[in-house]
Amino acid sequence: MSTTESPDPANPTDPTDPAGVADAATADVLVVGGGPAGLSAAVALSRSLRRVIVVDAGHPRNAPADGAHNVLGQEGVPPLELLAAGRREAEGYGARFLDDRAVTARRADDGFQVTLATGGVVRARRLLLATGLADGLPDLPGVREHWGRSVLHCPYCHGWEVRGRRIAVLGTGPHATHQAQMFRQLSEDVTLLRHTMPAPDEDTLEQLSARGIAVVDGPVARLLDGEDGALRAVLLEDGTELPADAVVVGPRFVARAELYEQLGGSRTDHPLGSHIAVDAQGRTGIDGVWAAGNTADLAAMVTVASAAGLMAGAALNADLIAEETAAAVRAARAG
Ligand SMILES: Cc1cc2nc3c(=O)[nH]c(=O)nc-3n(C[C@H](O)[C@H](O)[C@H](O)COP(=O)(O)OP(=O)(O)OC[C@H]3O[C@@H](n4cnc5c(N)ncnc54)[C@H](O)[C@@H]3O)c2cc1C
Repeated sequence: MSTTESPDPANPTDPTDPAGVADAATADVLVVGGGPAGLSAAVALSRSLRRVIVVDAGHPRNAPADGAHNVLGQEGVPPLELLAAGRREAEGYGARFLDDRAVTARRADDGFQVTLATGGVVRARRLLLATGLADGLPDLPGVREHWGRSVLHCPYCHGWEVRGRRIAVLGTGPHATHQAQMFRQLSEDVTLLRHTMPAPDEDTLEQLSARGIAVVDGPVARLLDGEDGALRAVLLEDGTELPADAVVVGPRFVARAELYEQLGGSRTDHPLGSHIAVDAQGRTGIDGVWAAGNTADLAAMVTVASAAGLMAGAALNADLIAEETAAAVRAARAG
């Protein structure tokens, strides 16, 4: 892949070649990550005739799930189907996609230079980090194998699917009591497994008891499968087996912020993990760098991530317009 200089800010994008088809390595905006956040930004930017390149490693967070829920008008759509449709829409407006992983980012000239795992280089005037987050799962045999199907974290993503079933909540932090109460809305058979969480205080125990949520002390050893491979039970270290159809866990949500850190930024701690701090439009503390979706908002579901991407795309376009207007004024005054 070749590299060329960034476009002249005083000389806006050629409307006949909005995506920079002539040179896929240079962009007005490089979007890193092609999940709901990155794709929504790519649609908004390419509809504004911006040269957009999306680099996507192809591992969206909800890929293990059968369907994406609470996506209005597309309830239960398979996650990869939704993204494929979004990609087609962005491509239809001229966005370019590179199936690759961005590995380094640094400032170059007036913009940024990003290298890719396969060795390519992309230059862009602005950077949008839509890289999502990594779910740090409890290190117990069976958890990873059932993640996204019968090992769950979010009542809005998959709660309805386990309504009325036997649900065990794995306590790894104080948040587990909140999760137990959330899933109690969906089933009368909820058990809180204390595992490694701190002892709940008297008020919390009273609330759990009042809602009929059993509390079981002692560490969990592993999850047990039935003959068909489906989750069957939770095995405690003392040998007790607790039958369960679903296990709720509290992953540590770690935003993928490596590129941001390479550019001099730092992660912001959050009670549930760490993320990139942004303003309401997705602007980070580093000039020219925006972030949207789970990398900036750990709790963002598909539609929220998508909305944040759209907002960031619009703000990026406005920022580029401001730069181009200033350059045009300077040029007009000079000449
Ligand atoms: C099991 C599970 C089920 C869920 N179910 C639902 C649901 O039913 N409804 C709902 O609304 N939400 C659901 N969610 C939440 C949903 O996954 C997120 O809201 C959504 O994925 C956030 O979108 P995003 O664009 O921020 O990140 P992602 O969708 O994770 O996309 C990020 C993309 O960036 C890519 N990437 C990362 N780093 C790089 C890099 N350096 N270079 C290039 N590409 C990179 C990744 O490979 C990925 O393709 C679920 C989450 C999980 C874990």
